[in-house]
Amino acid sequence: MMVAEAKPLAEIQGMIQGYRKILIAGCGTCVTVCLSGGAQQVEILAASLRTAGKQQGLAWEINEETQLRQCDPMFVQQIRDRTGEYDAVLSMACGAGVQTMAETLGDIPVLPALDTLFFGGADGQGGFVELCAACGQCILSRTGGVCPVARCAKGLTDGPCGGAQAGKCEVAKDTPCAWQLIYVRLLRLGQLHLLKESTPPKARRVHPARLVREG
Ligand code: SF4
Ligand code: SF4
Repeated sequence: MMVAEAKPLAEIQGMIQGYRKILIAGCGTCVTVCLSGGAQQVEILAASLRTAGKQQGLAWEINEETQLRQCDPMFVQQIRDRTGEYDAVLSMACGAGVQTMAETLGDIPVLPALDTLFFGGADGQGGFVELCAACGQCILSRTGGVCPVARCAKGLTDGPCGGAQAGKCEVAKDTPCAWQLIYVRLLRLGQLHLLKESTPPKARRVHPARLVREG
């Protein structure tokens, strides 16, 4: 899922400085799970901005709403009629949600309240770890299900670089070497022979990716 984190409050305040009536829009999917943009975070941000507005003598009128998915125009359409009364929408979705909302709502400014970080999974300790860089040509079948594009600091698709020490990456010393993880996985799977095959170069897209489903 998309992993994101809230922008610093001061940055958000700067973005909405010139607006009076603002809708804070949450997203009920990935950012709800990673606790950065769901209904609860919308409520917290709204309260923080109301307090900050009062302290600074700003007449912000702030309302709250959370859609199931901001990256789908079908869900954004459901609030379109109501957004006409606002000067700006502060979106607590990932970058894809912000852009979908901006395109769907048309003339109203849609501002990002979050910084989108990566595609990741839960690390089992309350945090999230980057697992996929959406490279568009998945090679997990060759790497034991461990992604070197996202998890090797050098993005090596034919590793290792040789710099790892005690299983840790030479670049990010508290991070496991992705190629060490790949080796261990391939060993367990009885597929070490895959390490002897080089990975073909990835086809680079020259246009933004678009997936069209038929039927
Ligand atoms: S190779 Fe890695 S970055 Fe590319 S699609 Fe697969 S998991 Fe994602
Ligand atoms: S030590 Fe491992 S993870 Fe780090 S850059 Fe080298 S191959 Fe990649």
